[in-house]
Amino acid sequence: MQIDYRSRLNEAQYEAATHRGSPLLVIAGAGSGKTRTIVYRLARLVEEGVPPESILLLTFTRKASFEMVSRASTLLGRGLASVPGGTFHSFAFATLRRHAAELGVNPAFTVLDKADASSLAKDARDRLELGKGDKSFPKKDTLVEVVSKSRNKELNVSDLVSREYPHLLPYCEDLEEIAHAYRNLKRNHGLFDYDDLLFELERLLLANPKVLETVRRRFNHVMVDEFQDTNLVQARLVKLIAGDHGEVAAVGDDAQSIYAFRGANVANILRFGEEFPGARVVRLERNYRSTQPILDLTNTILENAREKYDKHLYTERATSHRPRVYRTHSDASQARAVLQRVSELKREHGLDTGDIAVLFRAGFMSYLLEVELNKLGFPFVKYGGIKFTEAAHIKDALAYMRLACNPSDLAAWNRALGHVKGVGPKTVPKVIEAVLRGDADWLAKRTAKNQQLGDLLRFLDTLRRDPGRPAHALEAIAEFYLPIMRRAYPDDYPRRQQGLDELASIASGYQDCPSFLADVSLENPGEDREAPPEDALVLSTIHSAKGLQFKAVMVLDLAEERFPGKRAMHRMEDMEEERRLMYVACTRAMDHLDLFVPEAVWVRHLERNEPVRPSPFVTELPAELYDDYRETFGGGFEMARPRGMPEPPTSAPTTGGPAKGGDGGALPMGYCRHAIYGRGKIIQHIPPDKYRVNFQDFGLKVIVGRFLEPEE
Ligand code: ATP
Ligand code: MG
Repeated sequence: MQIDYRSRLNEAQYEAATHRGSPLLVIAGAGSGKTRTIVYRLARLVEEGVPPESILLLTFTRKASFEMVSRASTLLGRGLASVPGGTFHSFAFATLRRHAAELGVNPAFTVLDKADASSLAKDARDRLELGKGDKSFPKKDTLVEVVSKSRNKELNVSDLVSREYPHLLPYCEDLEEIAHAYRNLKRNHGLFDYDDLLFELERLLLANPKVLETVRRRFNHVMVDEFQDTNLVQARLVKLIAGDHGEVAAVGDDAQSIYAFRGANVANILRFGEEFPGARVVRLERNYRSTQPILDLTNTILENAREKYDKHLYTERATSHRPRVYRTHSDASQARAVLQRVSELKREHGLDTGDIAVLFRAGFMSYLLEVELNKLGFPFVKYGGIKFTEAAHIKDALAYMRLACNPSDLAAWNRALGHVKGVGPKTVPKVIEAVLRGDADWLAKRTAKNQQLGDLLRFLDTLRRDPGRPAHALEAIAEFYLPIMRRAYPDDYPRRQQGLDELASIASGYQDCPSFLADVSLENPGEDREAPPEDALVLSTIHSAKGLQFKAVMVLDLAEERFPGKRAMHRMEDMEEERRLMYVACTRAMDHLDLFVPEAVWVRHLERNEPVRPSPFVTELPAELYDDYRETFGGGFEMARPRGMPEPPTSAPTTGGPAKGGDGGALPMGYCRHAIYGRGKIIQHIPPDKYRVNFQDFGLKVIVGRFLEPEE
């Protein structure tokens, strides 16, 4: 059956789906059908006779690429499983393994996930004996963050530190040394971190023209979704693989760029035309996802951005439901309010639970809600935050398998030896060294004195002899590891045991251990494979909700220092990224959008509720864009803003008026008062005399210092 492209796509989308012969960029706002256009382009290419296995589809998760391929295959009425797709990292891994011999890569290389990379960075630091006894020395997560960012942004460590981590400047030389040692440790132990996958692939392709030619011939078409979140090396890889005559189609939205913190470079999309000469650029202007009131609100989020976005989205979806702001007493009552709203949406609007998503900036922000949902036995799925495979016991079990595949895997040795009594932090490196040197005498002496160590080494030998399929290896591992797990986690080992069973069932889908291990570090296999329960509430970090849509969306924790996060409040670039994150969150909504603003949050280390201010992203919204609800002391909500309240002024007066504070000297970063806007918090000094202030009721404004009165 022929697909009627003309009736399923609008003019601009049709042009993008059928354009051939030169690179193509679709740059357009959220919900304008970019992903839909890729799906139809894929279907059309196959209809035109392009072999599915020669179309490379790169996206931000494997799940997203599965989804696109399966949509295209439904359109065509034929299977398209052979379309190679996934993330840049999984593509790089597969290519490096496929051509390992020609590229000179040891095919048994291990991929380090984030936690492994941190532990290796710590190892590097310990070996250099840096920062001993210095409490403010950067912690392992910061170390690896600095190293990875410097690579992704392609800046040397000292440039990165002076730009983004000025408080770490005193440690700059130490950081450089650690970065160097970390690189050597990886090299000597057959370990690749995420960044290596991309950089090594690029390096090796450039050094091996034959392999490059094979790869180019294999992929006639390259398509990339969410191009705004690619970094420099990813963009170069696309160019390299496409070659001179390659057909590249990239789609993205500069306003949704939310991975700058990992080195994504929005210039990739903005300068596409320069990198790919002769590129056709298509813009989509109609939004098919959201209703007009939601679109009005999301357009306002962008209008308030410092960087202007060239977006003129319109929709034909009219409705009388405006977005809502719910102001709750605390984050605990916010959790209950979400539940109430879920039942209201189901009861009054006929939504299914699965049509509703609760989004938040960081994984921990849904804990209170999860507690409430668990109490009620309410079905939910959670995406983002800590991955299933990052749990300690899962990583333990995987460490044995990793050692069976790569005996020099340092991070895995550290884990496995960590559970052996009598092998302390000093002995661990000695054991590893002895193993790698093949010092049988030393090991024999040690194991004679330490039975647990002997058991571990014998077990690993058996496993290495014949790991078999990953599910089989995991059975043997479980037998060895269960007693260790009981000792290590006496309080909750039954739950952890369930986790191991789950891991075994995921593993049953794989033929060999290295592919299974790579997937576990690169993806979130549990999340991908398991179809979520039919009618479950979706809880997700905003990053993990990228590209998705839901009939109703609730955004949690819209309070200062939560969203935007604490660190972002002090750096304008980070603040802008948080704004784009807010834009991504709100643009997931089709029919209903609810913003939750807790007025106090539980602070764990103080063991009490602390008042918090509303997020500037809410206070800056004109009142007519939403309905405002405030929690009452009697329970429930009432409309908060009585009609007829005067409109907030739209721009700050910067001249005239009586001089208040700021006698020429800089104002302290802290709370202040303004005659019209009231109380606010100074978050940035803009020399010579202006300040960026987040006002409680009016959001972010730039004000001349003399109109501000510092508050005690
Ligand atoms: P995002 O930036 O959030 O990734 P997007 O631009 O990729 O959004 P899609 O997810 O492709 O947008 O489309 C949003 C919704 O609009 C989908 O439900 C899609 O099917 C629908 N849609 C897009 N274009 C059309 C069209 N021409 N006709 C009907 N529905 C459309
Ligand atoms: Mg999309």
